[in-house]
Amino acid sequence: MRTRIAEIRETDTPEAKAAIAEAADILKRGGLVAFPTETVYGLGADAFREEACARIYEAKGRPSDNPLIVHIAETAALNRLTEAADPRVLRLAEAFWPGPLTVILKRSAEVPDRVTGGLDTVAVRFPSHPVARALILAAGGYIAAPSANRSGRPSPTKAAHVIEDLEGRVDMILDGGDTTVGLESTIVDLTETDARILRPGMIGGEEIARVLQTTEAAEAAPKVTAAKEQEAEIALAPGMKYTHYAPKGEMTVVSGDKEQVILYINRRAAGSDKIIGVIASDENAPFYRADVIISCGSRTDAAEIAQRLYAVLREMDARGAEEILCEDFTEADSTGAIANRLRKASGGRRVFVEADGTIR
Ligand code: AMP
Ligand code: MG
Repeated sequence: MRTRIAEIRETDTPEAKAAIAEAADILKRGGLVAFPTETVYGLGADAFREEACARIYEAKGRPSDNPLIVHIAETAALNRLTEAADPRVLRLAEAFWPGPLTVILKRSAEVPDRVTGGLDTVAVRFPSHPVARALILAAGGYIAAPSANRSGRPSPTKAAHVIEDLEGRVDMILDGGDTTVGLESTIVDLTETDARILRPGMIGGEEIARVLQTTEAAEAAPKVTAAKEQEAEIALAPGMKYTHYAPKGEMTVVSGDKEQVILYINRRAAGSDKIIGVIASDENAPFYRADVIISCGSRTDAAEIAQRLYAVLREMDARGAEEILCEDFTEADSTGAIANRLRKASGGRRVFVEADGTIR
């Protein structure tokens, strides 16, 4: 298959409008289009065309029980996806949509099984990226999409990542430049009395709780719990049980005393005959001695670290890093989203170094 690639920087030029119309037409005919969102690039199909959604799994090599997120471009589009109107959804929509928040709702009968992985719930998001919004509207209002990477690879934050993984496997790729958020959306489950975070993202649980609580229903005090990682990721968001976001090199997250972390990483690098990569902060990068050193941003700037993380993981692959040692970035990570993705990328491998050099 030949993949059309179109660059779009502003949505209101005649060229951009033509490219979006062409992409919408592909979707309406059951094809696949990769498109930018503010979180990561998505691989879209018309959400109400079951056979088109099936092609997403084929193109990605995605396990068939891992459901897709339905992307909409107006809150009213929820009506066709879910029967039970939940006032919490409207509060969250008002506060965070368009934006990087996905809600899990009881599905309507019309939503294809291919989208939900056979679950009785559906994931819905209203993205803020202008190209995504224009495409969803032009394509009829409902695009089912997971991230536009080959299954198991880090999610794409640049069109080049999508091209690397999916050229020749999809009909069209819309290049909207680098994504700004960089990590996948927060997923919040609203199918039970207590809202539950199934996947942390840049919108945090506290913010969500605040919105759910500052309303007329305050006495009902809706709670937000972060589902326990094991429970959430394995049982609730089916996608989270698969190896995710992983670079090719074996990665270890190194936390603890700042100076001891640097000493530990330098010692590991000096003592190895493998190609060692270090994922550093701007503050510490000058102090490392290793084959490949890439900074992910300032230790105090979560937005910057999130925006760059997946590109850095892919860069480590491109530069042949066989072992990757990564700082932990917990100082800035108030929502836990960065720690969650580092845990995935490292398969949970971590080392803690105390101020006296003791390793735990
Ligand atoms: P991706 O955009 O590639 O991260 O894929 C969509 C994510 O949403 C996966 O982690 C899915 O497991 C999750 N997801 C989609 N639908 C549901 C659902 N009905 N319940 C829980 N998680 C879901
Ligand atoms: Mg994904």
